[in-house]
Amino acid sequence: MMASLQDRPYFFDSGLRFGCMGCGRCCSGEPGTVYVAAMEVGPIAAYLGLPAADLIADSLYPFRDSYSIREKASGDCLFFHGGCRIYPVRPRQCRTYPFWFSNLRSRYNWKQAAAECPGIGQGPLYTREEILAIARETF
Ligand code: SF4
Repeated sequence: MMASLQDRPYFFDSGLRFGCMGCGRCCSGEPGTVYVAAMEVGPIAAYLGLPAADLIADSLYPFRDSYSIREKASGDCLFFHGGCRIYPVRPRQCRTYPFWFSNLRSRYNWKQAAAECPGIGQGPLYTREEILAIARETF
């Protein structure tokens, strides 16, 4: 399966531009679910100087086989305070945005993502191979 995903043509064969503008739109507003893998809990807790148990109790809730991040009443991510408080150790779901398969499925989907994220179409050019490598991380 991976070989066919690798070999087929994509609308982004000549690359896509993305450079985060730090606007926080993807971390705020409408509710969402941010998957935090079990292996990501420790580094986030350490970065915040907290015991993992406190991080889990105060900021996470059970989701699938692991956790998701609680939100403020506004829908903003609990760690969003004008910027990401855990940026260097942010979960994979955040690190790989916007190169998710859901956004890469078609040029239409990418344009829809671009309507939400002003960083899409700006910044450095990611090659097809770089995009696929990031997208593969989201499996
Ligand atoms: S919406 Fe796009 S530009 Fe704004 S913070 Fe998120 S990734 Fe960055």
